[in-house]
Amino acid sequence: MPKAQETVLEIDLKALKHNFEYLKSKTQKDTKILAVVKAFAYGSHADIIANYLQGLDVDYFAVAYVSEGVALRNAGIVTPILVLHPQAINFKMLIERCLEPSLYNAKILNEFITVASEEGQTNYPIHIKFNTGLNRLGFEKNDVDDIISKLKGTNSVITKSIFSHLAASEDLSEKEFTSHQIQNFENITKEFSKKIGYQPLFHICNTSGILNYPEAHLDIVRTGIGLYGFGNSEKENKNLKPIAKLKSVISQIHRVEKGQSVGYNRAYKSNAFVKTATIPIGHADGIGRQYGNGKGYVIINDKPAYIIGNVCMDMIMVDITTIDCNEGDEVIVFGNHPHSASEFSKTTQTISYEILTAISQRVKRVLLR
Ligand SMILES: *Cc1c(COP(=O)(O)O)cnc(C)c1O
Repeated sequence: MPKAQETVLEIDLKALKHNFEYLKSKTQKDTKILAVVKAFAYGSHADIIANYLQGLDVDYFAVAYVSEGVALRNAGIVTPILVLHPQAINFKMLIERCLEPSLYNAKILNEFITVASEEGQTNYPIHIKFNTGLNRLGFEKNDVDDIISKLKGTNSVITKSIFSHLAASEDLSEKEFTSHQIQNFENITKEFSKKIGYQPLFHICNTSGILNYPEAHLDIVRTGIGLYGFGNSEKENKNLKPIAKLKSVISQIHRVEKGQSVGYNRAYKSNAFVKTATIPIGHADGIGRQYGNGKGYVIINDKPAYIIGNVCMDMIMVDITTIDCNEGDEVIVFGNHPHSASEFSKTTQTISYEILTAISQRVKRVLLR
Protein backbone atom coordinates (compact mmCIF):
# COMPACT_ATOMS: atom_id res chain seq x y z
CA MET A 1 0.00 0.00 0.00
CA PRO A 2 1.43 3.42 -0.91
CA LYS A 3 1.77 5.84 2.01
CA ALA A 4 -1.29 7.94 2.78
CA GLN A 5 -1.23 11.42 1.22
CA GLU A 6 -4.47 12.56 2.82
CA THR A 7 -6.79 11.28 5.55
CA VAL A 8 -8.07 7.84 4.56
CA LEU A 9 -9.70 4.84 6.14
CA GLU A 10 -8.02 1.83 4.56
CA ILE A 11 -10.21 -1.26 4.40
CA ASP A 12 -8.56 -4.66 4.24
CA LEU A 13 -10.83 -7.45 2.97
CA LYS A 14 -8.18 -10.10 3.61
CA ALA A 15 -8.37 -9.20 7.30
CA LEU A 16 -12.17 -9.46 7.09
CA LYS A 17 -11.88 -12.94 5.59
CA HIS A 18 -9.45 -13.94 8.33
CA ASN A 19 -11.82 -12.71 11.07
CA PHE A 20 -14.84 -14.38 9.48
CA GLU A 21 -13.00 -17.69 9.26
CA TYR A 22 -11.70 -17.40 12.82
CA LEU A 23 -15.18 -16.69 14.20
CA LYS A 24 -16.63 -19.50 12.11
CA SER A 25 -14.01 -21.90 13.52
CA LYS A 26 -15.14 -20.89 17.03
CA THR A 27 -18.82 -21.42 16.22
CA GLN A 28 -20.63 -24.75 16.61
CA LYS A 29 -20.79 -26.66 13.34
CA ASP A 30 -24.51 -26.34 12.62
CA THR A 31 -24.91 -22.77 13.84
CA LYS A 32 -25.64 -20.11 11.23
CA ILE A 33 -23.66 -16.90 11.10
CA LEU A 34 -25.35 -13.53 11.06
CA ALA A 35 -23.07 -10.58 10.26
CA VAL A 36 -24.00 -7.32 11.96
CA VAL A 37 -23.31 -4.52 9.47
CA LYS A 38 -25.16 -1.68 11.19
CA ALA A 39 -23.70 1.84 11.30
CA PHE A 40 -21.89 1.50 7.94
CA ALA A 41 -20.43 -1.85 9.01
CA TYR A 42 -19.03 -0.35 12.21
CA GLY A 43 -17.82 2.76 10.43
CA SER A 44 -16.09 0.98 7.56
CA HIS A 45 -18.23 0.62 4.40
CA ALA A 46 -21.46 -1.39 4.58
CA ASP A 47 -21.86 -2.05 0.83
CA ILE A 48 -18.34 -3.37 0.36
CA ILE A 49 -18.34 -5.39 3.57
CA ALA A 50 -21.78 -6.91 3.02
CA ASN A 51 -21.07 -7.80 -0.61
CA TYR A 52 -17.82 -9.45 0.38
CA LEU A 53 -19.46 -11.43 3.19
CA GLN A 54 -22.32 -12.41 0.88
CA GLY A 55 -19.62 -13.91 -1.32
CA LEU A 56 -18.39 -15.93 1.67
CA ASP A 57 -21.93 -17.32 2.10
CA VAL A 58 -22.79 -15.61 5.34
CA ASP A 59 -26.30 -16.73 6.35
CA TYR A 60 -27.85 -13.46 7.50
CA PHE A 61 -27.22 -9.77 7.93
CA ALA A 62 -28.47 -7.41 10.61
CA VAL A 63 -28.75 -3.64 10.70
CA ALA A 64 -30.29 -1.35 13.31
CA TYR A 65 -32.65 0.75 11.18
CA VAL A 66 -34.80 0.22 8.10
CA SER A 67 -32.89 2.83 6.07
CA GLU A 68 -29.71 0.78 6.54
CA GLY A 69 -31.44 -2.32 5.20
CA VAL A 70 -32.75 -0.39 2.18
CA ALA A 71 -29.20 0.78 1.43
CA LEU A 72 -27.98 -2.83 1.49
CA ARG A 73 -30.73 -3.94 -0.91
CA ASN A 74 -29.76 -1.06 -3.22
CA ALA A 75 -26.16 -2.33 -3.04
CA GLY A 76 -27.18 -5.77 -4.33
CA ILE A 77 -27.58 -7.70 -1.09
CA VAL A 78 -30.09 -10.56 -1.49
CA THR A 79 -29.24 -12.40 1.75
CA PRO A 80 -31.93 -12.10 4.47
CA ILE A 81 -31.60 -8.92 6.55
CA LEU A 82 -32.81 -8.60 10.13
CA VAL A 83 -33.67 -5.05 11.21
CA LEU A 84 -32.90 -4.94 14.93
CA HIS A 85 -34.67 -1.73 15.85
CA PRO A 86 -37.28 -0.67 13.31
CA GLN A 87 -40.02 1.93 13.79
CA ALA A 88 -43.58 1.50 12.55
CA ILE A 89 -43.41 4.52 10.24
CA ASN A 90 -41.05 2.51 7.99
CA PHE A 91 -42.95 -0.80 7.89
CA LYS A 92 -44.30 -0.41 4.34
CA MET A 93 -40.79 0.26 3.06
CA LEU A 94 -39.45 -2.64 5.13
CA ILE A 95 -41.91 -5.04 3.48
CA GLU A 96 -41.27 -3.61 0.02
CA ARG A 97 -37.56 -4.37 0.37
CA CYS A 98 -38.02 -7.80 2.03
CA LEU A 99 -36.41 -6.78 5.30
CA GLU A 100 -37.26 -8.75 8.43
CA PRO A 101 -38.27 -6.84 11.55
CA SER A 102 -37.32 -7.51 15.14
CA LEU A 103 -40.53 -6.93 17.14
CA TYR A 104 -40.01 -6.15 20.78
CA ASN A 105 -43.29 -5.09 22.38
CA ALA A 106 -47.06 -5.45 21.95
CA LYS A 107 -47.43 -2.05 20.29
CA ILE A 108 -44.94 -2.71 17.52
CA LEU A 109 -46.09 -6.32 17.02
CA ASN A 110 -49.67 -5.11 16.54
CA GLU A 111 -48.57 -2.32 14.23
CA PHE A 112 -46.55 -4.74 12.10
CA ILE A 113 -49.35 -7.29 11.82
CA THR A 114 -51.71 -4.48 10.73
CA VAL A 115 -49.36 -3.27 7.98
CA ALA A 116 -48.48 -6.81 6.83
CA SER A 117 -52.16 -7.73 6.45
CA GLU A 118 -52.99 -4.41 4.72
CA GLU A 119 -50.17 -5.23 2.30
CA GLY A 120 -51.71 -8.66 1.64
CA GLN A 121 -48.81 -10.59 3.12
CA THR A 122 -48.98 -14.19 4.31
CA ASN A 123 -46.30 -15.75 6.50
CA TYR A 124 -44.12 -12.64 6.43
CA PRO A 125 -40.98 -13.51 8.47
CA ILE A 126 -40.68 -11.73 11.82
CA HIS A 127 -38.28 -12.07 14.74
CA ILE A 128 -39.50 -11.78 18.33
CA LYS A 129 -37.08 -10.13 20.74
CA PHE A 130 -37.09 -11.03 24.46
CA ASN A 131 -35.52 -9.10 27.30
CA THR A 132 -33.54 -11.43 29.56
CA GLY A 133 -31.66 -8.85 31.63
CA LEU A 134 -30.26 -6.10 29.42
CA ASN A 135 -33.45 -4.08 30.01
CA ARG A 136 -33.19 -2.31 26.69
CA LEU A 137 -35.60 -3.85 24.16
CA GLY A 138 -37.79 -6.90 24.27
CA PHE A 139 -40.87 -8.71 25.52
CA GLU A 140 -40.83 -10.29 28.97
CA LYS A 141 -41.20 -14.01 29.65
CA ASN A 142 -44.74 -13.56 30.91
CA ASP A 143 -45.77 -11.92 27.61
CA VAL A 144 -45.50 -15.28 25.81
CA ASP A 145 -49.20 -16.15 26.07
CA ASP A 146 -50.29 -12.76 24.69
CA ILE A 147 -47.82 -13.00 21.81
CA ILE A 148 -48.95 -16.52 20.92
CA SER A 149 -52.63 -15.62 20.93
CA LYS A 150 -51.92 -12.60 18.75
CA LEU A 151 -49.88 -14.72 16.31
CA LYS A 152 -52.47 -17.47 16.20
CA GLY A 153 -55.06 -14.90 15.15
CA THR A 154 -53.27 -14.00 11.91
CA ASN A 155 -51.66 -15.69 8.93
CA SER A 156 -49.94 -12.46 7.83
CA VAL A 157 -46.73 -13.22 9.73
CA ILE A 158 -44.66 -16.19 10.82
CA THR A 159 -42.06 -16.27 13.59
CA LYS A 160 -38.76 -17.05 11.92
CA SER A 161 -36.71 -16.60 15.07
CA ILE A 162 -36.87 -15.62 18.69
CA PHE A 163 -33.85 -13.98 20.22
CA SER A 164 -32.32 -12.08 23.09
CA HIS A 165 -29.16 -10.07 23.72
CA LEU A 166 -26.49 -10.53 26.39
CA ALA A 167 -25.60 -7.60 28.64
CA ALA A 168 -22.04 -8.55 29.63
CA SER A 169 -20.80 -11.41 27.47
CA GLU A 170 -17.28 -9.91 27.34
CA ASP A 171 -17.04 -9.58 31.12
CA LEU A 172 -15.98 -12.88 32.68
CA SER A 173 -16.67 -11.56 36.19
CA GLU A 174 -20.35 -11.50 35.13
CA LYS A 175 -20.45 -15.19 34.14
CA GLU A 176 -23.17 -15.99 36.65
CA PHE A 177 -25.41 -13.18 35.38
CA THR A 178 -24.82 -14.20 31.76
CA SER A 179 -25.55 -17.86 32.50
CA HIS A 180 -28.82 -16.71 34.07
CA GLN A 181 -29.70 -14.77 30.93
CA ILE A 182 -28.99 -17.85 28.81
CA GLN A 183 -31.09 -20.04 31.11
CA ASN A 184 -33.97 -17.56 31.07
CA PHE A 185 -33.83 -17.48 27.29
CA GLU A 186 -33.85 -21.26 27.03
CA ASN A 187 -36.94 -21.39 29.24
CA ILE A 188 -38.64 -18.86 26.96
CA THR A 189 -37.69 -20.75 23.77
CA LYS A 190 -39.13 -23.99 25.15
CA GLU A 191 -42.41 -22.44 26.25
CA PHE A 192 -42.78 -20.42 23.03
CA SER A 193 -42.14 -23.36 20.68
CA LYS A 194 -44.48 -25.64 22.57
CA LYS A 195 -47.31 -23.11 22.54
CA ILE A 196 -46.87 -21.90 18.93
CA GLY A 197 -46.61 -25.48 17.65
CA TYR A 198 -43.48 -25.10 15.51
CA GLN A 199 -39.85 -24.33 16.22
CA PRO A 200 -38.41 -20.94 15.21
CA LEU A 201 -34.63 -20.36 15.15
CA PHE A 202 -33.06 -19.27 18.46
CA HIS A 203 -30.17 -16.86 19.02
CA ILE A 204 -28.57 -14.92 21.86
CA CYS A 205 -24.80 -14.61 21.23
CA ASN A 206 -22.89 -11.57 19.98
CA THR A 207 -19.13 -11.73 19.28
CA SER A 208 -18.10 -12.18 22.92
CA GLY A 209 -20.92 -14.68 23.34
CA ILE A 210 -19.39 -16.72 20.50
CA LEU A 211 -15.98 -16.62 22.15
CA ASN A 212 -17.02 -17.11 25.79
CA TYR A 213 -20.28 -19.12 25.74
CA PRO A 214 -19.99 -21.93 23.14
CA GLU A 215 -22.83 -23.78 24.89
CA ALA A 216 -25.18 -20.92 23.95
CA HIS A 217 -24.55 -20.68 20.20
CA LEU A 218 -27.97 -22.23 19.45
CA ASP A 219 -29.16 -21.81 15.82
CA ILE A 220 -27.56 -18.48 14.89
CA VAL A 221 -24.80 -16.28 16.29
CA ARG A 222 -24.72 -12.54 15.61
CA THR A 223 -21.24 -11.16 15.16
CA GLY A 224 -20.30 -7.54 14.68
CA ILE A 225 -17.11 -6.30 16.31
CA GLY A 226 -15.26 -9.58 15.80
CA LEU A 227 -15.62 -9.32 12.03
CA TYR A 228 -13.99 -5.92 12.22
CA GLY A 229 -11.03 -7.29 14.16
CA PHE A 230 -11.78 -6.81 17.86
CA GLY A 231 -12.37 -9.51 20.44
CA ASN A 232 -13.06 -7.37 23.53
CA SER A 233 -10.00 -8.86 25.26
CA GLU A 234 -6.26 -8.77 24.72
CA LYS A 235 -6.22 -12.51 24.28
CA GLU A 236 -8.84 -12.50 21.52
CA ASN A 237 -7.45 -9.38 19.84
CA LYS A 238 -4.39 -11.50 19.05
CA ASN A 239 -6.57 -13.83 16.99
CA LEU A 240 -8.24 -11.07 14.99
CA LYS A 241 -7.09 -8.39 12.55
CA PRO A 242 -8.54 -4.87 12.43
CA ILE A 243 -10.02 -4.40 8.97
CA ALA A 244 -9.88 -0.58 9.03
CA LYS A 245 -6.80 1.59 9.41
CA LEU A 246 -7.12 5.33 9.82
CA LYS A 247 -4.19 7.14 8.27
CA SER A 248 -3.28 10.71 7.53
CA VAL A 249 -0.34 12.92 6.70
CA ILE A 250 1.68 15.80 8.19
CA SER A 251 0.52 19.03 6.53
CA GLN A 252 2.86 21.39 8.34
CA ILE A 253 5.51 21.45 11.05
CA HIS A 254 5.79 24.35 13.50
CA ARG A 255 8.54 25.30 15.91
CA VAL A 256 6.90 26.76 18.99
CA GLU A 257 9.07 28.75 21.37
CA LYS A 258 8.67 28.72 25.12
CA GLY A 259 5.71 30.87 26.22
CA GLN A 260 3.73 30.56 22.97
CA SER A 261 0.43 28.78 22.63
CA VAL A 262 -1.02 26.23 20.19
CA GLY A 263 -4.57 26.08 18.85
CA TYR A 264 -7.98 27.47 19.79
CA ASN A 265 -8.51 29.09 23.16
CA ARG A 266 -4.72 28.89 23.63
CA ALA A 267 -5.43 25.60 25.39
CA TYR A 268 -1.78 24.54 25.10
CA LYS A 269 0.94 26.86 26.39
CA SER A 270 4.52 25.75 25.98
CA ASN A 271 6.91 25.95 28.91
CA ALA A 272 9.79 24.88 26.65
CA PHE A 273 10.52 24.70 22.92
CA VAL A 274 8.22 22.21 21.16
CA LYS A 275 7.91 21.04 17.60
CA THR A 276 4.35 20.36 16.40
CA ALA A 277 2.82 18.70 13.37
CA THR A 278 -0.56 19.73 12.01
CA ILE A 279 -2.66 16.80 10.69
CA PRO A 280 -5.79 17.12 8.52
CA ILE A 281 -8.22 15.26 10.79
CA GLY A 282 -10.51 16.76 13.41
CA HIS A 283 -13.74 16.41 15.29
CA ALA A 284 -15.73 16.58 12.05
CA ASP A 285 -13.89 13.42 11.00
CA GLY A 286 -14.73 11.67 14.26
CA ILE A 287 -11.81 12.52 16.51
CA GLY A 288 -13.77 14.06 19.36
CA ARG A 289 -12.54 16.96 21.46
CA GLN A 290 -12.04 14.58 24.38
CA TYR A 291 -8.93 13.26 22.57
CA GLY A 292 -7.28 16.67 22.82
CA ASN A 293 -4.96 18.14 25.41
CA GLY A 294 -2.57 15.24 25.81
CA LYS A 295 -5.06 12.36 25.86
CA GLY A 296 -5.00 10.81 22.38
CA TYR A 297 -1.95 10.15 20.28
CA VAL A 298 -1.09 9.17 16.72
CA ILE A 299 1.89 7.19 15.44
CA ILE A 300 4.52 8.93 13.32
CA ASN A 301 7.55 6.91 12.24
CA ASP A 302 6.69 4.29 14.87
CA LYS A 303 6.58 6.79 17.74
CA PRO A 304 3.59 8.17 19.66
CA ALA A 305 2.84 11.85 19.02
CA TYR A 306 0.34 13.23 21.55
CA ILE A 307 -2.41 15.66 20.56
CA ILE A 308 -1.72 19.04 22.11
CA GLY A 309 -4.31 21.74 22.63
CA ASN A 310 -7.89 21.42 21.51
CA VAL A 311 -9.01 19.21 18.63
CA CYS A 312 -10.23 21.52 15.82
CA MET A 313 -13.00 20.70 13.35
CA ASP A 314 -10.57 19.73 10.58
CA MET A 315 -7.19 19.47 12.27
CA ILE A 316 -5.18 18.27 15.22
CA MET A 317 -1.75 19.41 16.30
CA VAL A 318 0.56 16.79 17.77
CA ASP A 319 3.83 16.97 19.67
CA ILE A 320 6.75 15.75 17.53
CA THR A 321 9.55 17.36 19.57
CA THR A 322 11.46 14.07 19.83
CA ILE A 323 10.33 12.51 16.54
CA ASP A 324 12.39 12.68 13.38
CA CYS A 325 9.79 13.47 10.69
CA ASN A 326 8.96 15.77 7.80
CA GLU A 327 6.00 17.48 6.19
CA GLY A 328 4.31 14.87 3.95
CA ASP A 329 5.13 11.93 6.23
CA GLU A 330 2.45 9.38 6.94
CA VAL A 331 0.53 9.42 10.24
CA ILE A 332 -1.24 6.37 11.69
CA VAL A 333 -4.21 7.30 13.88
CA PHE A 334 -5.06 3.66 14.40
CA GLY A 335 -4.13 0.44 12.61
CA ASN A 336 -3.13 -3.01 13.75
CA HIS A 337 -3.04 -4.13 17.38
CA PRO A 338 -1.42 -2.75 19.55
CA HIS A 339 -2.08 0.58 17.84
CA SER A 340 -5.65 -0.25 16.96
CA ALA A 341 -8.91 1.60 17.49
CA SER A 342 -9.20 -0.25 20.79
CA GLU A 343 -6.00 1.26 22.23
CA PHE A 344 -6.79 4.67 20.72
CA SER A 345 -10.24 4.68 22.30
CA LYS A 346 -8.87 3.69 25.71
CA THR A 347 -7.05 7.04 25.91
CA THR A 348 -10.47 8.62 26.48
CA GLN A 349 -12.04 5.76 28.46
CA THR A 350 -14.21 4.62 25.59
CA ILE A 351 -14.35 1.48 23.42
CA SER A 352 -13.42 0.45 19.89
CA TYR A 353 -17.11 0.40 18.89
CA GLU A 354 -17.43 4.13 19.53
CA ILE A 355 -14.35 5.41 17.72
CA LEU A 356 -14.92 3.09 14.73
CA THR A 357 -18.50 4.19 14.20
CA ALA A 358 -17.60 7.85 14.78
CA ILE A 359 -15.33 8.08 11.71
CA SER A 360 -17.42 10.41 9.60
CA GLN A 361 -18.47 9.96 6.00
CA ARG A 362 -16.07 12.77 5.04
CA VAL A 363 -13.12 10.41 5.46
CA LYS A 364 -12.35 8.71 2.19
CA ARG A 365 -12.67 4.91 2.33
CA VAL A 366 -9.92 3.19 0.35
CA LEU A 367 -10.03 -0.49 -0.46
CA LEU A 368 -6.74 -2.38 0.03
CA ARG A 369 -6.29 -4.87 -2.76
C1 LIG B 1 -24.86 -4.65 17.68
C2 LIG B 1 -25.51 -5.94 18.05
C3 LIG B 1 -24.81 -7.17 17.92
C4 LIG B 1 -23.35 -7.25 17.58
O1 LIG B 1 -22.58 -7.18 18.77
P1 LIG B 1 -20.98 -7.32 18.73
O2 LIG B 1 -20.59 -7.17 20.15
O3 LIG B 1 -20.49 -6.20 17.88
O4 LIG B 1 -20.68 -8.64 18.16
C5 LIG B 1 -25.52 -8.34 18.14
N1 LIG B 1 -26.82 -8.32 18.51
C6 LIG B 1 -27.51 -7.16 18.69
C7 LIG B 1 -28.93 -7.20 19.13
C8 LIG B 1 -26.87 -5.93 18.49
O5 LIG B 1 -27.54 -4.78 18.69
